[in-house]
Amino acid sequence: MRRRANVLSGLSIDRAAGLRTNPERLAEAWCRAETRVLPVWRSKHFVVSEELSRVAFVGPERFPGFEEAILLGEGDGAVYFAMDVSHVEQPLAELGLDELHTVLGLREVASLLPQAEGALLAYANGMSSWHQRHRFCSVCGCETVSAQAGHVRECTACGEIHFPRTDPAVIMLVTRDDECLLGRQAAWPEKVHSTLAGFVEPGESLEEAVAREVYEEAGIKVEDVQYHSSQPWPFPGSLMLGFTAVATTRDIVLQTEELEAARWFRADELREQEVVKLPSEISIARRLIEDWLEG
Ligand SMILES: [Zn+2]
Repeated sequence: MRRRANVLSGLSIDRAAGLRTNPERLAEAWCRAETRVLPVWRSKHFVVSEELSRVAFVGPERFPGFEEAILLGEGDGAVYFAMDVSHVEQPLAELGLDELHTVLGLREVASLLPQAEGALLAYANGMSSWHQRHRFCSVCGCETVSAQAGHVRECTACGEIHFPRTDPAVIMLVTRDDECLLGRQAAWPEKVHSTLAGFVEPGESLEEAVAREVYEEAGIKVEDVQYHSSQPWPFPGSLMLGFTAVATTRDIVLQTEELEAARWFRADELREQEVVKLPSEISIARRLIEDWLEG
């Protein structure tokens, strides 16, 4: 275990899985004054404007019912739900949130929020994105409906049950002697370089995915692939699995069009941040680099 959790992980409430299949208790929880609903609007979240470090909740009375609500869990005597409100045009007014509130993307607020609130938003965001993208059955093509308090979708025709999906992606810091390998995509802000990453493919172990991605993207061979830590990354549904690996070759050959550039960096170049800028503070990529610099 690493000494601190990555941003977007570290949920403090109990997911209360037993409650998902208990309609009586759910209905009762929905009516309680302490119940807190976390609205999600077009993948964005509501925070208190002044400090941007407090999540805004609304009461369940703002919604006609809880059929579309997603149970997040319970903690501190309250039951937490998420509700997708993407269909409304003026979300602040509709939700009764005044001008002291604002709506922001998860990446923007994640670094400002306490750890557990960032994790709660990542959870709500990932669940809400999954519902939006799975309105139709992947087996027969007919409509699906939310069930088990938003934790499955059932096909209305063939009955297939669909579970929320998480796509595993590996992300790795490759080192050789006193340097590490970073790449950059053309769309990123100037000078930003980051660790290489890619999705795990069927029939592949995580260690094999790390070695394949590094070779595919930069033409570098690696060994000694070691797990570091992980991070939910709901953009829209990834789980980033962080690794370190040691290069056995040095000459970089860009193999795909994914990267605009890749090169070896010394620790002092990364600390100065003059020729290179590090990736976002909330990312596991940044964490992998910082841990290596501290190492
Ligand atoms: Zn179906």
